[in-house]
Amino acid sequence: MKKWKVCLLALMVALSSTGCVSMVAKAASVVEGEGIEEIPAVSPQQTQLVGQKESVIEYDGNLAFVLEYPRIGNTLVDEEIEKIIDEIREDFALQYQTKNEKQKKRSTQKDCDSFLYLNYDSYIASEDKMTLVFRETQEISTMASSATKIHIYHFDLNTGARLGTESFIKEGFREKASAYTIKYFTTTAPYKESLFGDYATTLVPESGRFDRFALTADGILFYFDRYDIFPGSFGDVELLIPYEELRGTLNGVGLEALPVEEKVVVVPPTGNGTGDTTRAIDPNKPMVALTYDDGPNPKNTGRILDALEKHGAVATFFDLGSLVAAHPAVVQRELDLGCEVGSHSYSHKNFNKLTKAEILEDVALTADAFQNAVGFQPILFRPPYGNCNDAVQAVMPLAMVTWSVDTLDWKSKNVNEIMKTVKTEADLDGRVILMHGIYETSANATEKLIPYLLEQGYQLVTVSELLKYKHNITPQGGTYYGYTYFQ
Ligand code: ZN
Repeated sequence: MKKWKVCLLALMVALSSTGCVSMVAKAASVVEGEGIEEIPAVSPQQTQLVGQKESVIEYDGNLAFVLEYPRIGNTLVDEEIEKIIDEIREDFALQYQTKNEKQKKRSTQKDCDSFLYLNYDSYIASEDKMTLVFRETQEISTMASSATKIHIYHFDLNTGARLGTESFIKEGFREKASAYTIKYFTTTAPYKESLFGDYATTLVPESGRFDRFALTADGILFYFDRYDIFPGSFGDVELLIPYEELRGTLNGVGLEALPVEEKVVVVPPTGNGTGDTTRAIDPNKPMVALTYDDGPNPKNTGRILDALEKHGAVATFFDLGSLVAAHPAVVQRELDLGCEVGSHSYSHKNFNKLTKAEILEDVALTADAFQNAVGFQPILFRPPYGNCNDAVQAVMPLAMVTWSVDTLDWKSKNVNEIMKTVKTEADLDGRVILMHGIYETSANATEKLIPYLLEQGYQLVTVSELLKYKHNITPQGGTYYGYTYFQ
């Protein structure tokens, strides 16, 4: 920086005119449904002031540099920032020369005629990761209009190193980001009316547009240049994609911020059939919940338990109170293997047809059956036939849970068909698979399904574990956890 004549000034006035015309997507959070799944509105992303803001004006011949940049206090990072500023400044000087030579209008006047404005946003994604986004506006005397450029740099605040995009992202990142972006801009006003016609081509995952982002506290902030996908009046556009939406495709930031060892959580002991108390679950890895209704059945539930035990896996059993009373040892084994046990009512009635009193009577009867057989009363309730209308929901004191993948095992009674329904699902992460513990074919299918799911990289978890890790929810009595929880 030494070769530049440096002029330190208070710059409030100059910097207010740095031509920052960005329109921020997340601020205009109008979401219009019309049968399209809503994308949650995202709160505006604030720049987080890191270190101290430096404001300088420097001159070099006819050029003026109006610069804003941070001093972090970490020598290595500050040196890197200084290098970045030098690069941007030299690039501007070169542009100026080239433009003037082309136009043969080399300026001879003494006053400044071309300006470089630089300001920045800083974001802290985690304790040690920072993104600096510099906005550069060039006003060159021989050019009709000013040009804006965005420069993005990531830093490791511990080592002071500049980090490349690749160090944060994993396979599938650009695909997820591209899909979310297209969905957001095609469903949200004012973007959906103004998106350029060939946006789908422009926004393909490998377009490079999903490599330009800031790591913020809440998500990944993407930058789209002026005229790239919207008319010039939009300026450059930013879109924040929450970390939740990019789950599993990031390294060391967002939901994947902490090392895996630190995030392995031990399920607290509950003693009430909501799962194992010592098994470690990695929240960063995909997980799926197998569920078995209508049991316990000594033979076929027994075989399902054998298969689970063999692979060190767990499932959730929604047992009928009448059968719990008849086969307490099977229920005890479900619990001993760390499985979750819920109620499927006492005798599989259609609850939509029951009165309030009948519903409560059934709940009490079933609770007694469990209490007598294995010493606890279930918290989860899976309604028979999935029938759980508003009236049932208003009365039911247990946490009502459904499923999201129906194997139709009771109908097909065919192992291949059961396997097919599961295999045709592209992504089972966070999903609940419905089976029935009383059929021989369901037991046969389970013996194939468990190793298949494990080979695919899924952790087998209970329904309560799924709610906990995917939604940070402890199932509450009287609440309905329907299909949308297990997508
Ligand atoms: Zn059932």
